[in-house]
Formats: sequence, C-alpha cells, structure tokens
Amino acid sequence: MTETAIPKPLPEADETSGPFFEGAMEGRLMLMRCSDCGTWRLPSRQHCDACLSPNFTWEQASGRGTVRTFGIMHQRYHPGFQNPYNVTIVELEEGPRLPTNMVGIADEQIRVDMPVVVEFEPHEDVALPKFRPA
Ligand SMILES: [Zn+2]
Repeated sequence: MTETAIPKPLPEADETSGPFFEGAMEGRLMLMRCSDCGTWRLPSRQHCDACLSPNFTWEQASGRGTVRTFGIMHQRYHPGFQNPYNVTIVELEEGPRLPTNMVGIADEQIRVDMPVVVEFEPHEDVALPKFRPA
C-alpha cells in the first residue's frame, strides 16, 4: 500500500501578523518593536513585555541568533511530519525567542549556544523562518 503524502499544516497570516509573513516572503525577518522603549517582540503580542505599551512599529531583525534550547521529536503528532525532526528555540539578537526548526545540520549536531542565521523555507503562499548554523 502506498502512503498518500499529506502536507504539513502551514500558518496563515491574519490582520495583526500580516507584515511578518509579507516580510518572510521577501526574505526579511520582521518583528514588532515597542515605540516607547525599543523592546522587540514576536508577532502578534498586543503589549510590550517590558513597559506594557501597545504602541509598536514593524522593523527588520538581523536574522542572527543563538540556539537557546531544542528537542528532537520522535512522536508523530501529524501525518505531514516525518520523524524525527527538531524543534528549536532560537534567541534572536534582538531578544525574542522564536520557536523554529534547524536546517542544514543533522539533529545530533545541534548544540545550545550555537550561532545561527535565518533562512526562509518557501511554500506556496507562505515562507517560514528556519535557522542554519552561522
Ligand atoms: Zn516597551
């Protein structure tokens, strides 16, 4: 019996995360930045973690960071995913911690504190930020 390929579920932009996904399609990592204190945050958080201000602008992040922690998934939670795969938390240079996947490296070689750089994995209507060793 052949197994029909089931696609991975993909995120869809909504009215608050639109600039993040538009930037990703153009190869730019866009984050929210507090207009009052300058603290960066991930979309789509309504308030600044540092000063609680709701005011922000979209700004391009450097795309550089370090691996803060990671796990290797062996349980298959969705038929679109091929196990094992890594789930990695990258601490961006700007501060926020982004859940993502490492690419361009074997799972066994991923290390905490490893410097990494973003790249965008293209899909039909969306591009997803992934990270590879810098
Ligand atoms: Zn703030």
